Amino acid sequence: MVIAAPTVGVLALQGDVREHLAALREAGVGAVPVRRESELAAVDGLVIPGGESTTISKLLEIFELLEPLRARLASGMPAYGSCAGMILLAGEVLDGRPDQQQLGGLDVVVRRNAFGRQVDSFETDLDVTGVGSVRAVFIRAPWVEKVGAEVEVLATVPRDDPAAGQAAGRVVAVRQGTVLATAFHPEITGDHRVHAYFADLVREA
Ligand code: GLN
Repeated sequence: MVIAAPTVGVLALQGDVREHLAALREAGVGAVPVRRESELAAVDGLVIPGGESTTISKLLEIFELLEPLRARLASGMPAYGSCAGMILLAGEVLDGRPDQQQLGGLDVVVRRNAFGRQVDSFETDLDVTGVGSVRAVFIRAPWVEKVGAEVEVLATVPRDDPAAGQAAGRVVAVRQGTVLATAFHPEITGDHRVHAYFADLVREA
């Protein structure tokens, strides 16, 4: 019997969709853009890309995807949020816009734009549990300020990186069941191991 590879969607309203599609395909799963409810219904898991969480939030409402996506997350669809995607999955956002919507799925409090402005973007090597050492690129990234009891911390910014400043020791990768989130952007480094880790979560689900 041949078991088909799972299909993972990439929410394609705004942000770096193409990079995630490419990384997923390299990780050995089918990857399709998701813009409408019927497309969401057809995928086995979803990546929510980096971009601008307030814009993606607004577009989710305009495209009538907010409630369908909340419903799929509530019923256990695996999801991976990178940067803005992490913000959208978080239960609570600090320094967000008052009208920005949360998808839920991840019992964490994140601080938006915690690393500073675009020009203050930051790179470091991170030890990510289950993945290994990863070059992490942070672009106007959030960090996690609080994690719920069900949340596993997968990576923190090393305290021995002199450039880390305020970010030293901050939580930047988490997992809660089949929901994964990173404050950084593995999709832009050509290293698809974080996507492979997520693909395994989707296969197991
Ligand atoms: N600062 C952005 C936001 O608030 C996230 C940036 C990113 O995804 N690279 O959504």
